[in-house]
Amino acid sequence: MEQSSLIKPVLGGAYPTISHGEGVFLYDKEGKNYLDASSGAVTANIGHGVQEIIDAMKKQANQVSFVYRSQFTSEPAEKLAKKIAELTKGELNYSFFVNSGSEATETALKIAIQHWQEKGKPKKHKIISRWMSYHGITMGALSMSGHPIRRERFTAMLESYPSVSPPYCYRCPLQLDPHTCGMACAKELEATIRRIGGDNIAAFIAEPVIGAAGGAIVPPDGYFQKLKKICEEHDILFIADEVMTGFGRTGKMLASEYWDVEPDIVTFGKGMSGGYTPIAAAVMTRKVMEPIMNGSQSIIGGHTLSANPLSCAVSLAVLEYVEKNNLVEKSADRGKNLIRGLKKLGEKYSFIGDIRGRGLLIGMEFVQDKSTKSSLPKGVDVTNEIIKLGMKNGILLYPAAAGLDGVTGAAIIISPPLTISEDECAELLMRLDITLRQFNEQIL
Ligand code: PLP
Repeated sequence: MEQSSLIKPVLGGAYPTISHGEGVFLYDKEGKNYLDASSGAVTANIGHGVQEIIDAMKKQANQVSFVYRSQFTSEPAEKLAKKIAELTKGELNYSFFVNSGSEATETALKIAIQHWQEKGKPKKHKIISRWMSYHGITMGALSMSGHPIRRERFTAMLESYPSVSPPYCYRCPLQLDPHTCGMACAKELEATIRRIGGDNIAAFIAEPVIGAAGGAIVPPDGYFQKLKKICEEHDILFIADEVMTGFGRTGKMLASEYWDVEPDIVTFGKGMSGGYTPIAAAVMTRKVMEPIMNGSQSIIGGHTLSANPLSCAVSLAVLEYVEKNNLVEKSADRGKNLIRGLKKLGEKYSFIGDIRGRGLLIGMEFVQDKSTKSSLPKGVDVTNEIIKLGMKNGILLYPAAAGLDGVTGAAIIISPPLTISEDECAELLMRLDITLRQFNEQIL
């Protein structure tokens, strides 16, 4: 029967109708369970159906769910901003709340431009980003995104922002040896800035660990320190897009902490509310905000539902839950064990080329031949076939683009809730093993 929901079933056939969720499991109306090994779209960081969050939601709904941000602030919004300032290092003390990750990066872009306008440098309006990146689906966010498949239909309408090579050491875009390259991909930022002129550039944006556009690509140590230094030398703001990596996903509160770099602007989404409600944020340092506070005193951005008390209360409860249950440390520990288990699967199947990641943000890239890293034959939609089989076997996996062109490669992301137990990790590995075996036998 045709589904009335406008969400088109992209995986072929109708979607199952979900009935409820509990912990790392989702249950459909037929009673089948799905181990949520992707946390939806790397979002359900604390798992499903947590009573404390439901209680916080009810309590706030009983008081007030919505006030317009240009008329009132609210206790939950103020407390949430304070909590984010506490959880982040350095000077990230100014939160601007929105409703999705795309709105957060779009806001970061606009605040970076406004920062320079209010400093009397309106020419500084270009944003540099990287190929193999995803910053969101709205036009500004998509203009900054190096995700060819998601850009394709809209390319003609996008801003032509400059982009630099990603630190994809598994297949170096510059065809260099990662041991001797001297981090040429980071130096590309310097060359690009010189070519365009620092006077024309507002900011550089990057995901600390590349998510949907590459499948959990972790940069080499020293890479982000180098980029931050280049940004400082050329008076360019550094935006860390932590929409996917923020609040414990990679085993640190922020993934950028791995390299001790303090961004000028950070964006959050997804795990900020664990999916319990739509909320996201752009968070700025005093340095970024000062010219605005001393100037127009108004950020030209925001949406009707920005900072609504209901979402802020839920997000606050989720972040407190992450802290109270040591989920950042758990993510780091479980991630190490899970990567070990996944590497065993990597030895078992010839079509698994690479396993990488940090904490519970793990990527698996597929190849025809491990030594040449050649792509699997054209015509086999590897990622979607594996995801479809996973659905049948009760395990949810997240697709990622891969390959130097971002089109011909195939990868998945494994990113269960940070609350997953060791037994549930074993179950995850078992269901994934069955799925990969069936892919090998039935599709390849
Ligand atoms: N930034 C990153 C790093 C993301 O991974 C995503 C979504 O996958 C976004 C931004 C956009 O977030 P949303 O889908 O909530 O708009």
